[in-house]
Amino acid sequence: MKIVRYQIDDEVAFGILDNGGSIRRLAGSPFDSLQPTDVTHPLDRVRLLAPVESPRVFGIGLNYVSHVREAGAETPAFPLVFMKPSTAVIGPGEPIVYPRQGQEVHHEAEMAVVIGKPARRVSEAEALDHVLGYTCGNDVSERTIQRAEMKSGALLMGKGFDSFCPLGPCIATDLDPANLDLSGRVNGEVRQQINTSDLLFSVPRLIEYISAAITLLPGDVILTGTPAGVGPIAPGDVVEIELAGVGVLSNPVVAES
Ligand code: MG
Repeated sequence: MKIVRYQIDDEVAFGILDNGGSIRRLAGSPFDSLQPTDVTHPLDRVRLLAPVESPRVFGIGLNYVSHVREAGAETPAFPLVFMKPSTAVIGPGEPIVYPRQGQEVHHEAEMAVVIGKPARRVSEAEALDHVLGYTCGNDVSERTIQRAEMKSGALLMGKGFDSFCPLGPCIATDLDPANLDLSGRVNGEVRQQINTSDLLFSVPRLIEYISAAITLLPGDVILTGTPAGVGPIAPGDVVEIELAGVGVLSNPVVAES
């Protein structure tokens, strides 16, 4: 099942995407129930939004060996968790704004996990019961700022700019997060390609690890880390992230006015 959040006229709602390209409206939030209504809309009549509104976003650093190598880092012994502010989240088609102080802004293709049920001290074995589904994420990062702040042990500003967390286009349920093809493209050129079976710390392990300290809430997002091939983007580019079973998240890059 593919769950979307969308705007039509002045209304925002959740719906289920069918294969024919129409949306069936849900009675409420997918975090409460997946009860459908009789209302349908053609897909081209609506604007798709980020599939969750103002989520808490947990990022995982260095979670693919190939990216650990290209970053010249050491393989982490435990998940490296950081956060991105909810104001960084944008939806499909919305612009990634290249900030005025930006010097080296990179794309990072990632599988994003959307939490469906509260999770505290959840074991690996139970972890996936707390997941609603998966979507595409782009952990956009300003490397010059990121490198400077990481020297002193901080990690927020370089990854926290407004628009630096595109998510979407839908939340796909019933996928195996340990076996999904993930790719990142810039202007149609493939820059990143991996299968999520290569994750150092699996989705169940990440949920067990985070929930040992922090209650995960419905709508929380975990960006599970990026593989090798990160690289610069510039105003005028179009960045696409594709996750098997989910679809393509596409965002143009524009200069800050
Ligand atoms: Mg990342």
